[in-house]
Order: sequence, then structure tokens, then C-alpha cells
Amino acid sequence: MVIDFHSHSFIPDAVAARAIGAMARNVEGVIAPIGDGTLGNQLDQMEHDGVDMAVMLPIATKPTQHDVILRNALAIREGRCDARSAEMLVPFMSVHPFDPELKKHIEEISSLGFHGVKVHPYYQNFSLEDPAVRPMFEILSANGLVVVSHCGYDVGYPGRYDACGPKEIASLLKSVPDLVFVAAHLGGCLGFAPHATDEIVDLGCYADTSALMRDWMRDEEMRLCRSWPAERLLFGTDFPWNVCSEAIGWVKSVRSERDWDAVFSGNARRLLKIGN
Ligand SMILES: [Zn+2]
Repeated sequence: MVIDFHSHSFIPDAVAARAIGAMARNVEGVIAPIGDGTLGNQLDQMEHDGVDMAVMLPIATKPTQHDVILRNALAIREGRCDARSAEMLVPFMSVHPFDPELKKHIEEISSLGFHGVKVHPYYQNFSLEDPAVRPMFEILSANGLVVVSHCGYDVGYPGRYDACGPKEIASLLKSVPDLVFVAAHLGGCLGFAPHATDEIVDLGCYADTSALMRDWMRDEEMRLCRSWPAERLLFGTDFPWNVCSEAIGWVKSVRSERDWDAVFSGNARRLLKIGN
């Protein structure tokens, strides 16, 4: 079984076209999406490439987006988008640190049975180390929600190395030690000196393997993908920015076969409470 812990799609299809179009223009000449951002396209790719389930990660770029993100996530879960979506996609929610109803919304997300949330410090204009956002992470932790955060450099934000690098991640995890935190993109190593991410490995956090294809052969990405503790490494593609089958092939080529069960599905099943 293969579970992709990091993917993006948009609903409805008209929004997908606009969202992917805007993002593609923003990173033109650096990377290009390999899908069109629609649910149907993602599901087709998953079936073609042997991905059984995918965690779908939205980002609330404004506090007011809570309602629409919730509506979309429920529509997917309840099979109102496409019968396959309800079976194959695990929608996460997003929280915005400046949402005036943050606590109420987090409790609602948890009581509705969602497993986690995505945050993105650049899009949401905060730093993981800011004491002002600590209560948000404490409430997320108290409500049993997994937090997936964009970490490290983002090709959409050239020049920025702050807010979610190793130093900021370490500061957050030391102050909220029980938080179940997934540091996306191999701990956010991109843009930092080799071994900079080592300081967060022992803080108990998870990392996903969703580095961009163009970086797969870099020494640091290879080293982290090979050495991150197997019980805390999650396969992720960042689809539609990487081809799923190639992402599977890369992780298999780097990681010992004895770890494949944990990395491709076991750890994800535990966090998503599948089969317990
Ligand atoms: Zn992503």
C-alpha cells in the first residue's frame, strides 16, 4: 500500500485552473506542474502510478477561508465530489493564525473527525518561532491534530529563508513538545547549509519526502531521505509538482527495503488512524 502524505488539488475544477495557473506563473522557469490541479486529474494519476490514498493539503491564505475549506473537505469526505475522492483522498484542513475564531475552529475541525491541518508560514505571514502563535499549536496539539507545515525554502518565495527553517522549527518543537509535527520537504533542508536540519531530527518530528524532483540528486536530500528515522518518515509527492511514480522510485532507490512498509504506508496509517 502507498499513501501520499503531501498532495494538492482544488475544487471545483474552475478554481483548480485559476489556482494552478497563478502558481505556475509565479514559478515559471523554475518548475512546472505536471497536473491541472483538479481532483479527477489527481485520482487518475494516483491510479496510474499505484498510489492508494493521498492526504490533500489546503492552505488558508486568509482567516476568512475557513468556511470554504471546510465545505470542500466535507464534500470530498462525504462523496459529493466524485465517488473515488471519498475513498482515495484524506482531506486535511488548514488553520490561519490570525483567525479571530481560531480556538472554536480548531475544536470544530477535531470534533468533525479531521486528522490534521496544514500551515504555510510564508503564505500566512507568521514565523514558527513567534511566541504569539504558540497558543495555536498548543490548541492543535490538545485537540489531537497532526500539523503539516511547509518547511524551508519555497520556490514561490525567492529570497526568503526565515519563518520555517531548522531554527524556527526547533524553537516551536521545544516549546510545544507534544505537538505531532510533520516538517514537509525533508525537514525543510532546501536553502540551508548541509546538516542544518540535523538539530530537529531528535525533537521527535516527522518529515515527508516531498522534495522537488530537481533536488532529488542533491547530497543533502539524499542523505536526509536515507537517514531520517524510518518510524518518522512519510512518503509524500507534493503532487502536482512531482510525478507520483517517479517519487516512489526515488524513495525506493534511496531507502532500504526493510523501511518501505513504514515509510510508504505504516506511519501514515498510524497518524490517520487507518486500520486500528
Ligand atoms: Zn506542497
